[in-house]
Amino acid sequence: MHAQNDPISALKRYFGFDAFLDNQQEVVERILCGRDLCVIMPTGAGKSLCYQLPILMRPGYGIVVSPLISLMKDQVDSLIEKNLPAAFINSTVPFGEQIRIANQAANGEVKLLYVAPERFHTDFFRRFLVETPPGVMIVDEAHCISQWGHDFRPSYRRLGEVIDAFRIPQVCAFTATATPKVRDDIREQLHRPEMELHVAGFKRPNLAFSVVECSSDSSKFAEIRQRLKRKKPTIIYTSTRKAVELLSSELGCIGYHAGMSDEERKTAQERFMNDPCPVLAATNAFGMGIDRPDVRQVIHFNLPGSLEAYYQEAGRAGRDGENADCILLYAYRDRFVQEFLIDLSNPPPELVQELYTRLRELAIERKTTMLEVTLSELVPEVPGAKSDSQLSAAMAILEKANLIDRGYRRNNRGFLRFTEDLEYLASEHAAQATQRSRFIARCIERFGFELLQKKAFTFDELAVVSGLSVEQVRRVLRALNGECLEWNVPFAGRGTELLHPEKVQVDMDYQAMSAKREFELARLDEVCSYARTAGCRQAALINYFGENARSWHCGSCDNCSGSADGHTGPLREVTDAAEEGIIRRILEAVEEFDGRIGSGKLSQILAGSRSAELTGRGFHRSRHFGRLEALKQTRIAAYLKSLEKAGYIGRIERGEFPCIELTARGLEVLNEHAHARIDMPELRRKAERHTAPARSSGPLPEYDESAPLYEELRALRHEIAESRGVPPFAVLTNAALTELARRQPLTIEEAMRIPGIGPVKARTVLPIFLEKIRAFRASR
Ligand code: ADP
Ligand code: MG
Repeated sequence: MHAQNDPISALKRYFGFDAFLDNQQEVVERILCGRDLCVIMPTGAGKSLCYQLPILMRPGYGIVVSPLISLMKDQVDSLIEKNLPAAFINSTVPFGEQIRIANQAANGEVKLLYVAPERFHTDFFRRFLVETPPGVMIVDEAHCISQWGHDFRPSYRRLGEVIDAFRIPQVCAFTATATPKVRDDIREQLHRPEMELHVAGFKRPNLAFSVVECSSDSSKFAEIRQRLKRKKPTIIYTSTRKAVELLSSELGCIGYHAGMSDEERKTAQERFMNDPCPVLAATNAFGMGIDRPDVRQVIHFNLPGSLEAYYQEAGRAGRDGENADCILLYAYRDRFVQEFLIDLSNPPPELVQELYTRLRELAIERKTTMLEVTLSELVPEVPGAKSDSQLSAAMAILEKANLIDRGYRRNNRGFLRFTEDLEYLASEHAAQATQRSRFIARCIERFGFELLQKKAFTFDELAVVSGLSVEQVRRVLRALNGECLEWNVPFAGRGTELLHPEKVQVDMDYQAMSAKREFELARLDEVCSYARTAGCRQAALINYFGENARSWHCGSCDNCSGSADGHTGPLREVTDAAEEGIIRRILEAVEEFDGRIGSGKLSQILAGSRSAELTGRGFHRSRHFGRLEALKQTRIAAYLKSLEKAGYIGRIERGEFPCIELTARGLEVLNEHAHARIDMPELRRKAERHTAPARSSGPLPEYDESAPLYEELRALRHEIAESRGVPPFAVLTNAALTELARRQPLTIEEAMRIPGIGPVKARTVLPIFLEKIRAFRASR
């Protein structure tokens, strides 16, 4: 390459930078070679320069498609500031100006032409493309093309047609969203299946990922408390607002979710940014645009909905490059919570129809197609509706079917009327010394006598008129209401307009609806398999995103560092006869139950725990019941875990909980008396009691008095949950259940001292549980 025109000197010449950031140079060179590229690099990696530089270095101009007008303007402004030949054409640019810019592109005065995608459908721009074809089309934020992303733009969908129609010679796509589905969509939708994929920059070597298996919410709490002992900036993500409330009240930390008011959220954000060592519990609503570089740990209390969501949320740790931890607390049952959420966001077609029918009825009752009704008001009115979030998803389907249009909250109008003499008010407030005065004076100046009648305004409009912020306008109106004016607050929900009230039936794309659900379930599977991977966690994530990790290992995740589940020792061979006996008995039981029960139940059975008797499945009659009675149940569970990790026991995950079965290696130990090699602290002969051959009567040492009651309460909870179609935790949390079993309260007041049992629970489910407790106590 010519010395003047090699990328490094061009970088210096055009941008004044001395060196490329990681991965930039390779992309620049490939684009210069004329290749079609699909480049996926994280936000901030410097993608813009990757396409700007080659366009500047080559003859001709390039088109950059970008979805947001405001972003487009920022980019072009910063290029012009550097004296680089850039311009944009979108709906905000007057027609005469568009012609001028097009001419500049034709004669080389503009080389980087930013265009909003809908411009390709105007006659003017189409003619321009035919007369002056670009050398390359860059599609920035290319994930907008994928229906599966949250940023989907229908106008991006039609870029493939444009590329074909105008025979664009080179097409390159850029995005930070790296999921297999989005990747495939980009290439397919742009009609460039052969596009070279270039994924880079997702490694975060300073982050240590780990997964901690927790059997219950209370063990999750214990884990978190442990991790909060050393104070450090921490984010705890959960999947429901309720869990945020619970965490923030139990841990005394900051809470953040979308159900809080704007002001509460702002305060929470400020506390998070300003406290030296904040701990914050949040739903995924938290994070956008909040950049605290020194977050030292991100804990996920629940399974995230997808791996990309997980990597994004976990990636908020260690932005400063210093070491940080990303911990996923994983209970197998969490899967069902997520499935439940997926169900809510994918309402059945009947419910969508019911909702629509009810909206039509309301329109007839109220004699208007502009409905002001909130989702929570609709829940009891629509047969089968479970929650407002479910109805919100149903609304979205109606919106997609073009049957309704939903306004934005801030577009709702309230009514304003001045009640005092306007001339008096005008003179009184002429100086505009306060926000109130300014508001009054400016409104009168602008609308005069019209203000004596009720007049409809949005907060935004009043903000423009008065020159105050929306928040200030709200405050001023609250203060003045009933003084010199009347203000009827606007409807607080989103308005719903029926677009075709004559239509009775909703036409739904059933196939697309079930495809969406399947897609979401598949993503959940990916998260579960991440939780169970035995290899390097970060390498697994990176491979998933399409970056070839090859033999790269982070070296710091639980699997790399061998710290998974707190075990650090290497495998050791079991040669001790007593320990061999234990392992043999465990494996025999695993073989006999053959994938029908999980490791928790099996350790109960082997330990002879009475909880195993209570399931009504006759486990206490099994020959394995109590065979390892002398061992603590937790010790047996630990053996099971190490046997599983060492590959002697496998898992089957298809039912309500994971079951275990013998693997070929396990069978070898059983049948051929091979020595097992496990990763577990050595048996301390003295400390262990003898393994009793037969079961003895009398109380078992680790027997917990409250266990039978706990089991009964749990069964009751299960029943209630099922009858209401909600997950068990929504009835009562495990922590609350455990406490109920332990304290055995008889009255509502006593029970309400238990965290997690508030006034609502006290009214709804608590009485049923108290009845059970009373019966239990009476039977003793
Ligand atoms: P992305 O689109 O990948 O999120 P941008 O293209 O907006 O990232 O770039 C992020 C920042 O990095 C910008 O401020 C840009 O000026 C800067 N940048 C890009 N390339 C270089 C470089 N080679 N040297 C220094 N700074 C760079
Ligand atoms: Mg960018």
